[in-house]
Amino acid sequence: MTLCTPYQTQQLDTNTLPEVMERIYREVVEDYGKGKVADYIPVLKEVNPRQFGMALRTIDGEEFSIGQASAPFSIQSISKLFALMLALDIYGEEIWERVGREPSGMRFNSLLLLESEGGIPRNPFINAGAIVISDIIAAYSSIPAKRIQDFIAGLSNNPDNRIDPVVAAGEKATGFLNTAIANLLKALNNLHSDVDRTLDCYFKQCAISMNCIDLARATECLANRGCSNFNSCFSANNTHKRINAIMLTCGLYDAVGNFAYHVGLPAKSGVGGGIVAVAPGQYSVAVWSPELDDYGNSLLGQAALEKLTSYTQTSVF
Ligand code: GLU
Repeated sequence: MTLCTPYQTQQLDTNTLPEVMERIYREVVEDYGKGKVADYIPVLKEVNPRQFGMALRTIDGEEFSIGQASAPFSIQSISKLFALMLALDIYGEEIWERVGREPSGMRFNSLLLLESEGGIPRNPFINAGAIVISDIIAAYSSIPAKRIQDFIAGLSNNPDNRIDPVVAAGEKATGFLNTAIANLLKALNNLHSDVDRTLDCYFKQCAISMNCIDLARATECLANRGCSNFNSCFSANNTHKRINAIMLTCGLYDAVGNFAYHVGLPAKSGVGGGIVAVAPGQYSVAVWSPELDDYGNSLLGQAALEKLTSYTQTSVF
C-alpha cells in the first residue's frame, strides 16, 4: 500500500518555472519528425515543421515563454473558442437551442451525426457547431469575421492579430466538407444567414494568425473568473466556467479523453499546431508546434502540456 499525503492545491512556483520550461523544451524537441503538418492548403503545408513555442501567463500578469513563442501561426480551430466566448457573451444561454454541449466522438468535420440529430451539432467545437456559432455572430454583426477579429484583438491587447487573406482563400478553395455542412444546416433550418455569408465568416476566423504569447493573454480571462489585466471579458458571471467545461469535454477533437487523462486541463487545439489550455485560478498557456498526430492535435504541444502539468502538479485533478 502507498502512503498518501494530504491533498493541497498546488500553486505554480514561478521561481522555478523558467527552468521547468527549458527542460520541457529540451525534452519535446526530441520528438521532431514524428508527426505531420496540416496539408489541406498549400500555405499550411509549407510551414517549417520543426518549430516549438510555449507561453504561459499567470493571473497576476507574469509572463514566461520559450522557443518560437512570438512567431505567428494559423490558429485554425482555436478561433472556435473565441467565437464561442463572443456568442455566449452576446446571446447567453439562448445559443444552446441551436448547438449541443456533448463530445461527438467523430472527426471534427464529420457530417454523420448532423442529419440523424436534426441539424443540431453536438458541440460548438466541431465544424458544424462552429458554423452555427458563426451564423449566430453573423446575425448580430454586419461584418462578423471582423467582429471576431476585433474581439481577439481586444482580448490579447494586440490589433495585429488579423485574418491572413492567403489562408482564408485556401480555406474557401478547399472547404468542400464545410460547404456541405453549412448546406445541410440550412436545409435543416439551423442556419439563419446566407450559406455563403456564414461560411465567409467561418473560413476567415480559422485564418486568423496569432502567436503563443498573445494566445496566452487572450485566454487569461478563462483562468481568472472572466477578468484579465486588459479587460473584463464577459457580462455574465459564470461564462468562464461554461467555456472551460466545454473545452475540457470537447476541446481536442475526438482525442479529448486522452488529453484529459494525460494533461488534465481545459484546452482547445487547432490544426495549425496550436493548443491553448487553462489552469483555473492560476494561468493560461499556449503551445505551438506544427507537426500533428492522427487526430489533428499538435504532437509536441500535447507532450509539452503533459510535462507542464506533471512537473508543476497543476492539472485540475
Ligand atoms: N479550417 C479547418 C476546417 O474547417 C479547421 C481545422 C481545425 O483546426 O480543426 O476544416
